[in-house]
Amino acid sequence: MRRRALRDEPLIFERNPGRGPRGGYLLPESGIAPVAPEEALPADQLREALPEMPALGELEVVQHFHRLSQMNFAVDEGLYPLGSCTMKYNPRICEVTSRLPGFVDLHPLQPEWQVQGALRLMWEMERALAQITGMPAVTLQPAAGAHGELTGMLMIRAALEARGDAREVVLVPDSAHGTNPASATFAGYRSVEIASGPDGTVDLAELDRLMDERVAAIMLTVPNTLGVFEHRIVEIAELVHSRGGFIYMDGANLNAFAGRALPGAMGADALHINLHKTFSTPHGGGGPGAGPVAVSEALVPHLPVPRVVREGDGFRMLWEDGRSIGPMRGFYANFLILVRALTFIRGMGDEGLREMSEVAVLYANLVRQRLAGAYHLEYDAPTMHEVVFDDSLQQEHGVSNVDIAKRLLDLGFHPPTMSFPLIVHGALMIEPTESPAPEEVEAFCEAMLRIAREAETDPEVLKAAPRETPVGRVDEVQAARNLVLRWRAEEAWPAGVPTRS
Ligand SMILES: *Cc1c(COP(=O)(O)O)cnc(C)c1O
Repeated sequence: MRRRALRDEPLIFERNPGRGPRGGYLLPESGIAPVAPEEALPADQLREALPEMPALGELEVVQHFHRLSQMNFAVDEGLYPLGSCTMKYNPRICEVTSRLPGFVDLHPLQPEWQVQGALRLMWEMERALAQITGMPAVTLQPAAGAHGELTGMLMIRAALEARGDAREVVLVPDSAHGTNPASATFAGYRSVEIASGPDGTVDLAELDRLMDERVAAIMLTVPNTLGVFEHRIVEIAELVHSRGGFIYMDGANLNAFAGRALPGAMGADALHINLHKTFSTPHGGGGPGAGPVAVSEALVPHLPVPRVVREGDGFRMLWEDGRSIGPMRGFYANFLILVRALTFIRGMGDEGLREMSEVAVLYANLVRQRLAGAYHLEYDAPTMHEVVFDDSLQQEHGVSNVDIAKRLLDLGFHPPTMSFPLIVHGALMIEPTESPAPEEVEAFCEAMLRIAREAETDPEVLKAAPRETPVGRVDEVQAARNLVLRWRAEEAWPAGVPTRS
C-alpha cells in the first residue's frame, strides 16, 4: 500500500523552496582557495540572482524520482502489448554489458588502435545482422527505424542515379507505418498509396497497374501492420525488380520471423531493423534506439561511411568510398545500443532467436483465439506476431477503443496500440511479444473479455476509467492544444477523482 497519494507529489522545484541547500554530501576542505565569480568570469556572464535550484537532500531526490516512476506503466510492471512497438523484456545482462567501463568511457575521437574491441564489436554486429537477414552487408549508423528508412531510400536513390535512371515515385501500401511515406518524401520521392486486398495484403493486380518506369521502389512492411505476412512477397519482388524498381522492406516487425526466414531470400534490397524492438533495449521512454539497415549486393557500394572494415586481425574505419551516400549522422552509431543488442543476440543464439519468434507468433495467435467473437476482426487473415481487433462490437453500446484502453489500465495492463493501422477504424493492435509467462497472456485475455462483458452490462464503468491510476482520464485534445508545463496537483484534478492510497 502506498503511504502517500502519488497525485500529491509536488514538482522538485516546489519542495523546500528558497530555503538554501540541504546538501547530500559532506566533503572535506579541498585546500584550494575559492575564487570569487567576478574574478573567474567576464561581467556579462555573471548572473544577477541565483537560479532557484531545487535544494534537497539525496534521499529526498531518490524518493521523489522513485515516486514519479510509479506514476507510469512500465514493461517491468506487467504485460505491455503495444502493437508494432515490440515492448519485450530487456534482460538485465544487456544492461550490465552496456555499462562496462571499457564501453562507457570510450570517446569517438580515440585513435583506432585504442578501440579495437569496440570496432570488432561493431563488425561482429554487422555480421550477426547480415546472417539474421540473409543479406550481404549492413550499416549500423541509423539512430532509429525511421532514420534507417531514410538511409535505405537514399541508397536506392544513389543506385538509380548511378545507372542514370532518375525515378520519382515510391509505392506505399495503405497499411504502412506512417514513417514510410514520410521517409520516401524526405528522400525526394512522391509516395503513391496501394490499396490492400480483402486479406490485408498487397493487391498484385493493383501493383501490376502502378509499377511503371517512374517507380523507384515499393516500401513493404513484412509482416505488415495488420500482423499479416505478405505471402506473395517473392512474386511482388520479382515484379518490381523486373521493372527496374527496388524493394524496401520495413523490418520493424522482424520479431515475427527472425531466426526462421530470411528477408534476403524474399528479395529485399534494403531493410531496417529496429534493434530497440526486436533485440531488446528499453524503448518507450524516448530512446535512444538504433535502426541498422541491411542491403542487397546492388546497394553495397552506396552504404554510408564511415564503415568498419577488417584488415588481417585488426579493424579500421573506412572514411571514404566513392559511391557512398556519405555519413548519416555524427560519428558511427548509438554504440551502447549495439552492445545491448549483440548481448541479446549472442545470449539467445540461433536456437533461441527461432524460439523467440515462434513464441511471439504463438502468443499473438492465443490472444486472437481467445478474443475472437468478443472483439471484431476486420481482416480475418493468419496472424503473425500481432493481431488487430477493432471496437465495432463495443461501439453498439457506445464504448470506444479509448474506453477499453483506459479500463485496461485499471486492470493492470498497458493498453494495445490504438487507432492504428489507419485502415482499421477503432483499431486495437495487440502484440504480446514472447516475453510474458503464459499465465500473464491469459490474464490479459481475461481482462479483455471482462471489458467486453462490461461494455454490454456496465458501460459507465468503462467511461469512468481509469480510476486506479495516479492520473485519471485526461482530455487529450485539450492537453495537446493547451500545453501546461507547470501545474499544481490540486488544480489539475477535478474534485472527486479518487486517489490511489
Ligand atoms: C516502429 C516502427 C517504425 C519506426 O521506427 P522508429 O525507431 O520509431 O523510428 C517503422 N515501421 C514500423 C512498422 C514500426 O513498427
